[in-house]
Amino acid sequence: MAEHGVDALLLSLGADLPWLSGYEAMPLERPTVLVVPSDAEATLVVPRLEAPRVEPDAALFALRPWDELEDPVALVAGLVGTRRSLAVSDRCWAQLLLDLQAALPAASWQRASAVIGPLREVKDAHEIAALASAAAAADAVAAALFAGEIPLIGRSEAEVSTEIGRRLIEAGHDRVNFAIVASGPNAASPHHEPGERRIQAGEAVVCDFGGTMRTEQTGAAGYCSDTTRTVVTGPPSAELRACYGVLQAAQAAAVAAVRPGVSCEAIDAAAREPIAAAGFGEYFVHRTGHGIGIEEHEAPWIVGGNTTAIRPGHAFSVEPGIYLPGRFGLRIEDIVVATEQGVRPLNTSEHGLVVVQA
Ligand code: ZN
Ligand code: ZN
Ligand code: ZN
Repeated sequence: MAEHGVDALLLSLGADLPWLSGYEAMPLERPTVLVVPSDAEATLVVPRLEAPRVEPDAALFALRPWDELEDPVALVAGLVGTRRSLAVSDRCWAQLLLDLQAALPAASWQRASAVIGPLREVKDAHEIAALASAAAAADAVAAALFAGEIPLIGRSEAEVSTEIGRRLIEAGHDRVNFAIVASGPNAASPHHEPGERRIQAGEAVVCDFGGTMRTEQTGAAGYCSDTTRTVVTGPPSAELRACYGVLQAAQAAAVAAVRPGVSCEAIDAAAREPIAAAGFGEYFVHRTGHGIGIEEHEAPWIVGGNTTAIRPGHAFSVEPGIYLPGRFGLRIEDIVVATEQGVRPLNTSEHGLVVVQA
């Protein structure tokens, strides 16, 4: 906070609060704010009816429940006092921020991620262990997919998505965050919403799924999994097989490029160049990856223009894709962690093109 000239942090919705305190605010209209002054103890301002959810820890923060007829904005403004330079949760609702700005007209504002982002993006050993546990659980679901234990042909994408979600929970996740199932031409839409389309024989199916898993070491704060595998429901065309080969090599090249000191944009380029060289450059329409931790998507961003140097403890996805509109789409995604020596891939399920006869 001193480095960034911040007099007080105001943490509301988003992952900074649970990362720091173990308590996650409910995403509802009644404000929850952890006020962290640089020169005084922290106070958690929380709706009275949600206070029983908080595990109080006097060593971390004082608890200040507010009653239904109290004004939480005035309460927070009182705790801020004459401090001027404030940093507020990136995910704070505009409703609360606008009210706080009206109550604190002399304050200047910046994003809390300026302070907490650099701390959150480098994972410690406990966090890496939690990410590895979540990845292993997601890999168990991928293995079931490859083994044909999750029937595809004749079922709707939505049905398969529901089953993947159920299996993520069975494998140890506490929450399913998403289970994209995109078949045939739908797979050309990277963030396709699984729908009523019935999966047919002989087509590519992109399955991208992840959840949040709590472990003993990380307590209340859960860590995320996120993996993508693309299978085919019958022998693929020569074109699809060739396209998959390009993608698999590009994904492996980007993983192999990960080591401390290399820039995020260089990892993106390692995935992008072989895809472009094969003539599919315009069909790889998104960045190569995103950081992962307590949030599914967080810094560092593996994208062109990001010159941030990889440090040991950076955990992120490597997920190039090739999307041919109206035809098919392919994506392969692993979570990796940068180590002192190089890279540790957390997802180790099959990377080759698997034909699922189910
Ligand atoms: Zn995505
Ligand atoms: Zn994903
Ligand atoms: Zn991802």
